[in-house]
Amino acid sequence: MLLVDLGTLLTAVIVIVVAYLVVLWLALAFYVVRDARRRTTSPGFTLFAMLLGFVPPFLGALIYFMVRPPLTMEQVRSLAIEEQALLEPPLEGVPTRPCPTCGREIEQEFILCPYCRTQFARRCTGCDRSLRLGWGVCPYCATEVGAPALARTGR
Ligand SMILES: [Zn+2]
Ligand SMILES: [Zn+2]
Repeated sequence: MLLVDLGTLLTAVIVIVVAYLVVLWLALAFYVVRDARRRTTSPGFTLFAMLLGFVPPFLGALIYFMVRPPLTMEQVRSLAIEEQALLEPPLEGVPTRPCPTCGREIEQEFILCPYCRTQFARRCTGCDRSLRLGWGVCPYCATEVGAPALARTGR
């Protein structure tokens, strides 16, 4: 009687373990297919990923993770948009001038160059307009802006 029970128990354990592995295997395979779809539009690669996801179990998925394209299509797209933004010329109609340090076109009102980070002006504390670093007083609203920054650094 005890032996039979032990056998049944063993069978149950094996069934549970196998079922667990099968569920894990299928989940991993579906994950691989979905991941491949996000990374490529090529049906060939998706099919290849599907095969790898299922066979050999687990090892195939591992191989897939090693050979898959490093970026998803979303990532590729946002990278392209970022590059586009960097190359974009300044807005139309905004007065621009070349940066005195790196020569790139920047807006007239900028107090520093966003590309090379050179500061060549500062903001008036009174009217918020851009002032040259050497000015001690704002010519627009007559606010004293303190000692010129250039003289301070010279000492
Ligand atoms: Zn610059
Ligand atoms: Zn001012």
